[in-house]
Amino acid sequence: MSSDEHKLVKAHPHSFCPWCASHLVKKLSDGRERLVCPNCDFIWYRNPIPATGAILCRDNAILLVKRKYQPRVGDWCFPAGFMEYDESPTECCIRELKEETGLDISITRLFWNYAGHDDPRSNAVLMIYLADIIGGKLIAGDDASEVAFFALDKIPSNIAFQAHRETIADYKHFVATGHLPGE
Ligand SMILES: [Zn+2]
Repeated sequence: MSSDEHKLVKAHPHSFCPWCASHLVKKLSDGRERLVCPNCDFIWYRNPIPATGAILCRDNAILLVKRKYQPRVGDWCFPAGFMEYDESPTECCIRELKEETGLDISITRLFWNYAGHDDPRSNAVLMIYLADIIGGKLIAGDDASEVAFFALDKIPSNIAFQAHRETIADYKHFVATGHLPGE
């Protein structure tokens, strides 16, 4: 593990109340141990962060990006990223695709939702869309060091996250059967 990765592995839970700056303490709430403020009753509900990404398919090959930064530098994944506070999921997806691949996309439909429990930065909810390329020029941008289309039988073995591996498996099933996940 590199020193950079080490910084990400244990994202620090809050120590202080964001409202009154008192020291938070552990307390059972709704049957879970949560950090709560003994002074103003603030409860830190730790929620997963929403993220979105897209499956772009061209000539029976899907677009993946190689990660430029930690975690999982050098591993491949779908172009995807965390939602900004004021974005809708589809706005996030369109922005992330432009930033990471240079492509303009039109979203066709939601493919499926995935739980991300193996990213050291945070647990996540990954919403994956099916999308078409409508413009732009393919380049590795932002936090991608490479972008490439891969035939479904030639997907690299080093896929960065479990949710993305599940997406690939579900997409192969979709191509073979026409059934979306859950159908
Ligand atoms: Zn407080």
